[in-house]
Amino acid sequence: MSNDVSFLDLKSGYLELRDEIDDAMRRVAESGWYIGGPETKRFERDFAAYCEARHCVGVGNGLDALHLVLKAMDVGPGDEVIVASNTFIATLLAVSMVGATPVLVEPDPATHNLDPRLVEAAITLRTKVILPTHLYGQPADLDPILDIARAHGLLVLEDAAQAHGARYKGRPIGAHGHAVAWSFYPGKNLGALGDGGAVTTDDSAIADRVRMLGNYGSQQKYVNAVRGVNSRLDPLQAAILAVKLRHLDRWTAHRRHIAAFYLDRLAGTALVLPHVPNWAEPAWHLFVVQTPERNAMMAMLAERGVQTLVHYPIPPHRQQAYADLGLGKGTFPIAERLADTVLSLPIGPHLSMEQAERVAAAVRAASPS
Ligand SMILES: *Cc1c(COP(=O)(O)O)cnc(C)c1O
Repeated sequence: MSNDVSFLDLKSGYLELRDEIDDAMRRVAESGWYIGGPETKRFERDFAAYCEARHCVGVGNGLDALHLVLKAMDVGPGDEVIVASNTFIATLLAVSMVGATPVLVEPDPATHNLDPRLVEAAITLRTKVILPTHLYGQPADLDPILDIARAHGLLVLEDAAQAHGARYKGRPIGAHGHAVAWSFYPGKNLGALGDGGAVTTDDSAIADRVRMLGNYGSQQKYVNAVRGVNSRLDPLQAAILAVKLRHLDRWTAHRRHIAAFYLDRLAGTALVLPHVPNWAEPAWHLFVVQTPERNAMMAMLAERGVQTLVHYPIPPHRQQAYADLGLGKGTFPIAERLADTVLSLPIGPHLSMEQAERVAAAVRAASPS
């Protein structure tokens, strides 16, 4: 057997729970309910309870969750939505999908998350929504963002695609803002065996509108109030997610254990390690270090059999897809510097402590101290 440590081990999540997941899949196959129905309802109820949110609406994927909430919030052409300059491209794509304009604001370099101190200066008469991402599973500093939103009459939509199980000031991510968008893409902390997503919120009007918009704009069969889309969480994925949700806290605890281990073992190296504010309980979707020698370090780790990845090598404003924003190099220096220096180490519920030690030893050997 190879001694290599791969970045992500997706199959173990299934193998560990094989009997429970196989039972769930068979139950759906034998039920005759293949869209909506009791399995989807049950997962929505379970996930809302887990997030301490009043409502959960299953949708097709995380991008749709963001897009449908923005549509439900009546965001459209001429409107502006504030997003972090170092987020994953999907956060911006959702804004573009409703015809609105993403307005980028730099992250706090210590936390990688939208810097609340810079938000106010980005607000214009066209701003409708502030859309912070809980990047890498680290909760964004929500209270100051919510205060600014309240003062300016704006809505807050959280991109929690990487933050299942994270807590902000003791309360789970799920309904701090007006709505929260989730992804169940297989590699996320709570991942389906395919695509999936959800919206959680305490606002029943937003929940109802998201559900209607994801179902052709219809609440009553063959009666269409608005032009919607087809984006639903299918019962097969919902049944699998309900099984995995019961194990999520244990998996998150293991991620925290590895993160604490890395923080301890890598202290004293020249690497910049993740900073965790005292109000944050991260879900550790990713463990991201920074080094100016990122590409060399990545190559040295690969030689030692440790696979690492970069989240993300090109910031959204430098992507060809957003060339029309006309934001040249140097416009967002913090996002650009992060893109050049961040490196994600292997972490996950099925990474053994022995593997974590191999990673830590390889990183120590490869880093100038
Ligand atoms: C994964 C991800 C998304 C998109 O989720 P999909 O289910 O892949 O559409 C959105 N935002 C962030 C921050 C993500 O990591």
